Amino acid sequence: MSASVMIGVLALQGGFEAHERMLRRLGAETCQVRVPVDLDGLDGLVIPGGESTTMTLGVEREGLVEPLRELAAAGTPILGSCAGMIMLDREHLGLMDMRAERNAFGRQIRSFETDLEIRGIEGPPLRGIFIRAPWIAEHTEEVEILGSVDGRAVAARQGELLAVAFHSELSEDDRLHRLFVERVNARVAARQAGQAR
Ligand code: GLN
Repeated sequence: MSASVMIGVLALQGGFEAHERMLRRLGAETCQVRVPVDLDGLDGLVIPGGESTTMTLGVEREGLVEPLRELAAAGTPILGSCAGMIMLDREHLGLMDMRAERNAFGRQIRSFETDLEIRGIEGPPLRGIFIRAPWIAEHTEEVEILGSVDGRAVAARQGELLAVAFHSELSEDDRLHRLFVERVNARVAARQAGQAR
């Protein structure tokens, strides 16, 4: 039997612990990422929600910008949630060909929950918890939109990068994280098969 995969969670700021709990529940091992060396040997990475300006400053301070870009360039699956989605866009780490609009849902409804259909997730709609959430304001054809709320794109994929505007780590429904962990497992299995050849 193969060992479980190791998924890092960027832990400079924000809601990283809830992601770790959910990833562990799904059978992954997790570790907290604060400095570049923490990225060594990771099979996947989660960038959690929080505050994207603070997170950007932390990433720059710790010299994580280039190492994170290299991790993505190596094809490592990355999940960005809420502020994590903002971090992935072209105005931040520049890993996805899209622009996320911060606090896009406006002051009146800064935080809300809603059911949404996500492409790739079977069964009943997913419960999305939105906390001062962004939406995807622009994107190229490279970015596949996986789900929307009121016509606003809130979930997307580009290659191995997955971005959601909501906090799937806070709901009981673990299907979004499951989708991500399955992707990480698949990549590790493919790598091992390649090595065994
Ligand atoms: N509004 C926050 C930001 O702009 C994101 C909120 C969140 O991650 N829950 O960074």
